[in-house]
Amino acid sequence: MRPDILNPLFAEVRSMAGIGPKLAKPLDRLKIERIKDLLYHFPASWTYRKPVPALDVGDVGQNIIIRLVVMDYKGSGSPRAPTRIFASDADGNYVTLTFFGRNGGWAKKQLPIGEERVISGKLERYGDELQMVHPDHMEPLDNGAAPALAEPIYPLSEGLTNKRLGQLASSAVENIPALPEWIEPSLLAKRVWPDWQTALTTVHRKDDEAARDRLAYDELFSNQLAMRLVRSALDRRHGIAIKGDGRLTNALNLPFDLTGAQKRTIAEIESDMAQSRPMLRLLQGDVGSGKTMVALMTLLRAVECRMQGALLAPTEILARQHFANLRQMLSGLPVNIAILTGRDKGKAREATLMGLADGSIDILVGTHAIFQEAVTYKSLAVAVIDEQHRFGVSQRLMLSRKAKGVPHLLVMTATPIPRTLALACYGEMDSSQLDELPPGRTPVETRVMSSERLVELVEGVGRHLASGKQAFWVCPLVEESENSDLAAAEQRAEQLRLRFGDKVALVHGRMKGPEKDAVMEAFVAGKTQLLVATTVIEVGVDVPNASLMIIEAADRFGLAQLHQLRGRVGRGAEKSICLLVRSAHIGETAAARLKLMRESNDGFRIAEEDMRLRGAGELLGTRQSGDSPFRVATAEQVRAMIGIASDDARLLLDRDGGLDSGARGQAARLALYLFERDAGIATLRGG
Ligand code: ADP
Ligand code: MG
Repeated sequence: MRPDILNPLFAEVRSMAGIGPKLAKPLDRLKIERIKDLLYHFPASWTYRKPVPALDVGDVGQNIIIRLVVMDYKGSGSPRAPTRIFASDADGNYVTLTFFGRNGGWAKKQLPIGEERVISGKLERYGDELQMVHPDHMEPLDNGAAPALAEPIYPLSEGLTNKRLGQLASSAVENIPALPEWIEPSLLAKRVWPDWQTALTTVHRKDDEAARDRLAYDELFSNQLAMRLVRSALDRRHGIAIKGDGRLTNALNLPFDLTGAQKRTIAEIESDMAQSRPMLRLLQGDVGSGKTMVALMTLLRAVECRMQGALLAPTEILARQHFANLRQMLSGLPVNIAILTGRDKGKAREATLMGLADGSIDILVGTHAIFQEAVTYKSLAVAVIDEQHRFGVSQRLMLSRKAKGVPHLLVMTATPIPRTLALACYGEMDSSQLDELPPGRTPVETRVMSSERLVELVEGVGRHLASGKQAFWVCPLVEESENSDLAAAEQRAEQLRLRFGDKVALVHGRMKGPEKDAVMEAFVAGKTQLLVATTVIEVGVDVPNASLMIIEAADRFGLAQLHQLRGRVGRGAEKSICLLVRSAHIGETAAARLKLMRESNDGFRIAEEDMRLRGAGELLGTRQSGDSPFRVATAEQVRAMIGIASDDARLLLDRDGGLDSGARGQAARLALYLFERDAGIATLRGG
């Protein structure tokens, strides 16, 4: 139960006085549903106004507040000409107040000749004159309501003005309750942070970094606290200790030796799984580092104990490829492997569900369909999540409900995540790194070229295809949009077909599943040679004969994404080339980023540098897109403070008595509720 003290914060915004049905939509769009959402909707910037005694050219460009006497109207013959009103300051300097459109009559009414007014607006120079266009404030002196010296500018949505939102925020600010402090006292003192109530009030009244940081920290802290609580709740539940006898893993007929990193990682995983404490491990390995092999070994350990394993892939294509790979590696072994995706329907699906329930299926590969409600496992012991992108903690935790005991969990990611961000997204996971590529790979050579040299490029592709080799051609968008010069895959494929005929295939994200699979299969089988694609190829396909990759408008991709794409080539013995085609004119940062791609093949370094060059937002997802696990904290704040929040959460739970005893523990519960860290809250209920 949410503590009563928070109830006012969770009241519906619509219950506020003066909110009619008209505001419902814009508020919805801004995801402002409850009072706390309104309070946490921070100003994006501030407008400052400077009170001045007299007009001064030196203030041009600034918002000023000044007393003026209205002197004269400049008659405008044509109704379309702006209305111009002359006014003078105490020293006799003139300024023209200009009103466009139909505002003229109204303005004259506000500004009778001979009267004194407090005027505020941006001072501009117009020819030899000073002018103010549409002053935002024109009031008699005795009116009292002087314009604010600092006005917050809020992120808006159509149908909601800044003024209105400002009023709503101001009135919500009046009723912020005082909450007990959950931040460690020494941290609070060191940072000179205000208490929560003061901080939340302050962010709406002035641009105050300490207040913003404190509030962001609250969110990070509750995030880290929730993750820790979940982890320790998992630890208290019984997992299944798995100790395979090696009869399957040893019988695997591998065409290669495992790399040192693979061996080490597999050993780490095996020792985790041998405990009844459920494994929660993150495996980071660059593209091509051989994660599939590690997944297979992990799954086989479960099967050796007559239990089941599941492999979850982010896309249909990748699920199918994993399935095909694993089945091939397992051929001849007594292991029953099946696939389940959203596309498997009817009898086949029924049969798979039966097999999972009665235990005749040992390993299941699939998309998130494999953890839907209808799917029950006889004895799921381990789940491996191949996570090219992030699935989100909640999805991962859903797995725990699928098994009698808590299954061991291995999350594999190819997008290298800088340490700070890993902490934010994965919390208390153990981590292994495949920091060694299998031997015999020739590193991909990366070149950058301007889009102006496209003709040359096509010639080069022609020679490449003529020698029997394959290539990828990646375009950023599916359909050319009118106002964008992004190369469109469809159009590009058409052009290339004119030149290379049916050697060219096209695959894009809007294709239906079976259609997409057919195109991919034909390419994998070598029936087509040049695969024009949108980024769908990012996750998946292993085609050793493809040794050339062209990426159009490369400057518009994230570096991590480029690195992923590049990882699709360089899988065979042949030396591979990745051509990054850049727009003709690019900025300094874009150039620096492409240079980095040329110089480095190290996914971790690329991720770190990308974060430095573009800010952490890119990797974390933006708050607006909803990809970020944080609503309040900016990417920069995450980077700067997540480590401290993690330590603080640990100390509170391990040293300072947890959430049950002590004032700070009780306060921390409030933070969990405030930020709706339900997963963490659920563990409180479970006790
Ligand atoms: P990723 O980590 O990107 O998922 P994969 O598991 O797809 O990498 O492996 C990439 C390629 O390397 C595959 O063709 C796989 O068979 C091969 N491979 C994996 N481990 C080794 C190894 N130890 N030695 C040689 N090749 C390997
Ligand atoms: Mg992989």
